[in-house]
Amino acid sequence: MKSVKGYGRPLWVAGKPIDHTLSPAIHNVAFQRASLPHRYFALEVAPDELQELIDVFREVDALGVNFTIPLKETVCDLVDLKTDSVEALGAANTLYREDGRLKLDNTDVYGFKKLIEPWHDRVKEGPVTLLGAGGAARACLYALGELQCPTIQIWNRTTERAQKLRDEFSSLEIECLSDEELENGAFDGDVVVNSTSLGLQEDDPSPLPASVIRDDMVGVDLIYHRNTTFMDEYLNRGNEAVGGLEMLVYQAARAWERWTGESPNVDVMMNAAREELRNQ
Ligand code: NAP
Repeated sequence: MKSVKGYGRPLWVAGKPIDHTLSPAIHNVAFQRASLPHRYFALEVAPDELQELIDVFREVDALGVNFTIPLKETVCDLVDLKTDSVEALGAANTLYREDGRLKLDNTDVYGFKKLIEPWHDRVKEGPVTLLGAGGAARACLYALGELQCPTIQIWNRTTERAQKLRDEFSSLEIECLSDEELENGAFDGDVVVNSTSLGLQEDDPSPLPASVIRDDMVGVDLIYHRNTTFMDEYLNRGNEAVGGLEMLVYQAARAWERWTGESPNVDVMMNAAREELRNQ
């Protein structure tokens, strides 16, 4: 079995659940805009089916795969060649070919760097406050390290997970914040990143009390589905705030570059993502 020249090659986003993914809309419009014949599909894949997917990928000469929950870690055991970020994080979201060999990248790191680009100068001065200690927080930490952020203050609902991150990312200067320190605003970071999943549900509260938001603070939320309470509380008092849609689109753009060797039209990707969100 092999893809036939001129008819395009398949790509997939694999995960479980996968029903609400924006990725096919984002990538297919970029292929269309670039007059490339490839087609990108959503595929429900459980961890125990992942090897089969990699085998099919090789067999049909597919162009690429994105991985989402719960496959980002498992896939690292199945592919040998990895970028430095994947080696460091033990999590990947993009499979591509380099000199004919399969390779994994974690393009969330690039996506997060692009999301906070307007505040890179402030990030380089530090500190940055990071709420959450899950998979997304790990990608943020790696990116903050690459941006040479001098100090990162992490708060997490389960304090032990934040402490574990501090131990694991030992080359970074990381302080763990207690619940009391967060509630009393006893932290210096003026760029505050919400990487918790609080905000995924429409009526979710913010993990940060509105009373501790200072005039100079920027709120960065990784959630891209809507303006969250976290974001609204910044915007309502005239502060800057941004949601995670740019991170999603730029991680897609970097993956697209890995697959095609070209740069996609990011504006059409962004419009497709917004349109898809409106239709969900
Ligand atoms: P994850 O690994 O499951 O981690 C979830 C995090 O949220 C943990 O820190 C968890 O704290 C915290 N949390 C969950 N419920 C909470 C609650 N009720 N109160 C306070 N904290 C709570 O998930 P993830 O992969 O890191 O993803 C986190 C969020 O980032 C998701 O909303 C996801 O959509 C978003 N994300 C966006 C992008 C993008 O491209 N924009 C990329 C990746 C992820 P505990 O440790 O205490 O459980």
